[in-house]
Amino acid sequence: MRSLRISVTDRCNLRCQYCMPEPEYVWLPRESLLSFEEIGQIAEAFIDEGVNRIRITGGEPLLRRDLPVLIESLAARTAVEDLALTTNGILLKGNAAALKRSGLHRITVSLDTLKRERFRALTGSSDWDAVIAGIHAAADTFGALKIDTVAIRGTNDDEIVELLEFGRTVNAEVRFIEYMDVGGATRWSPATVVPRAEILEVVGRHYGGVIPIGERASAPAERFLLPDGRTFGIIASTTAPFCATCDRARLTADGIWLLCLYASGGTDLRRPLRAGASRDELRQLIHTVWSLRADRGAEERLGMDRQTTLVPLRALKKDAHLEMHTRGG
Ligand code: SAM
Ligand code: SF4
Repeated sequence: MRSLRISVTDRCNLRCQYCMPEPEYVWLPRESLLSFEEIGQIAEAFIDEGVNRIRITGGEPLLRRDLPVLIESLAARTAVEDLALTTNGILLKGNAAALKRSGLHRITVSLDTLKRERFRALTGSSDWDAVIAGIHAAADTFGALKIDTVAIRGTNDDEIVELLEFGRTVNAEVRFIEYMDVGGATRWSPATVVPRAEILEVVGRHYGGVIPIGERASAPAERFLLPDGRTFGIIASTTAPFCATCDRARLTADGIWLLCLYASGGTDLRRPLRAGASRDELRQLIHTVWSLRADRGAEERLGMDRQTTLVPLRALKKDAHLEMHTRGG
């Protein structure tokens, strides 16, 4: 275990069709959300067990008030070699400088289209310009960033080259994510997935070649080099899952630790923490659960008849933990 994704809220100011397309959701009760101090205590136990990379996510993490306070406390832990944030960018412009000051190392902004109208259809929001402004602010403040794009058939699969070209203008490495069937409310079907092979073909045809960088290790993104020296990434979680090298723990905003994005349940760390468990007791619990881990969620999905959705809408409405936006993506 090296990497920890911490979701700080399940709420979001967008309604991306592939993540939370419904107008209303059952949210995690506010009193169940971990305080920054509690997140810090749990993170310390994970760090004691080997975590050295932390990513803050959500829902939309910038909706969590005073987020730089949490970043500052995590950045102060010297064992954390990589501290990153994934955001939809809507609130980034006004926050980029404070995030940098608090010690955040890197930012990833999700951007699926360069067309305003498409953005509105895809996210339910007309704030595309705010996302672009957020990307520019991140580039100015951090020098570089990553852009994550979920490639969806018939939605944005004609923008692959344009998004790479846009990335060049803001010093961003663009990473294309294969659309995953993570919940019942999205309209996922096998036909909506733009596979890694097709993305490589489109990019290779346009730029005249693509060279694999071959440093995949445990990182989910495979990276590639273009003839002009620029790089881009593909996260092929649907057609080429990376379960065998997954070193990732996921913490929901209410302190449930998920061993896999596809897991139907997790380990409640909030309860022992609030009952007074020490850092070492938490660490031991984490050690035991992780040592028994046998999850291969994405590989299992690949092997089964996927005409049915992963989680039916009925079940989603009863348990917020089954939602992608609660799991942190
Ligand atoms: N709200 C933030 C954002 O959108 O960047 C952070 C949370 S979001 C759940 C994290 C990542 O999950 C985003 O890059 C998003 O595009 C990705 N994601 C959400 N649903 C997905 C799906 N069905 N397939 C692939 N990626 C998905
Ligand atoms: Fe919100 Fe991110 Fe999900 Fe879009 S992908 S609905 S921005 S949590």
